Amino acid sequence: MNRLEQVQARIRSAAEGAGRSARDIVLLAVSKKQPLERIRALIVAGQRRFGENYVDEALDKMTCLADDALEWHFIGPIQSNKTRALAESFDWVQSVDRIKVVRRLSKQRPAGMVPLNVLIQVDLDDEPQKAGCIAADIEDLAAAIDAAPNLVLRGLMAIPAPRTDPAEQTAVFARLHGLYQELAERHPSVDTLSAGMSADLEAAVAAGSTMVRVGTDLFGPRPD
Ligand SMILES: *Cc1c(COP(=O)(O)O)cnc(C)c1O
Repeated sequence: MNRLEQVQARIRSAAEGAGRSARDIVLLAVSKKQPLERIRALIVAGQRRFGENYVDEALDKMTCLADDALEWHFIGPIQSNKTRALAESFDWVQSVDRIKVVRRLSKQRPAGMVPLNVLIQVDLDDEPQKAGCIAADIEDLAAAIDAAPNLVLRGLMAIPAPRTDPAEQTAVFARLHGLYQELAERHPSVDTLSAGMSADLEAAVAAGSTMVRVGTDLFGPRPD
């Protein structure tokens, strides 16, 4: 089995263990810092969705890989002065965490493009220096996104800090899933919970994640 098949098998088995269908879980290939050859190999193997953390690096890759069939997700911290590039070049922005960014992305999304899909990044660890809004701010952001003409609210994204205690890990994903369900009840466009990475995708899928973001286990370790 190659790396892609191994990750797909892990998703299938986690889904089965949770009584879910693997078809309900999207695999996002996190290609930050990965060389083009590795990305091309994954495209040849059928992967279409890629996640990037750094705007300039992502734009370079998009140019080299110019392929309309690819779907690009921005998953890194957002600097306000980079929102235009995000609005013009990405299909999804998963790391929206403040109203200012909502307004800029909607204003800067070019006319004639389909609306930009956005996720609200929530910080469940309440570490002030981390990206992501606190849970109490989700609803205000969701309302702002609903009111933004060129954005579609698709759900939540989170990067919970790693837990060594499996019970704590389960609890944090369960809390995230609860917030996601509340959001989905109030906003009919919501259908995506982006959670789970190489180390914790099983726990995330067990807790109801609909999109896992996998880098290392798909591509191998990131160079440098
Ligand atoms: C780097 C990154 C990932 C992938 O992490 P791996 O451990 O390499 O699978 C997923 N999500 C975000 C937001 C990242 O920055």
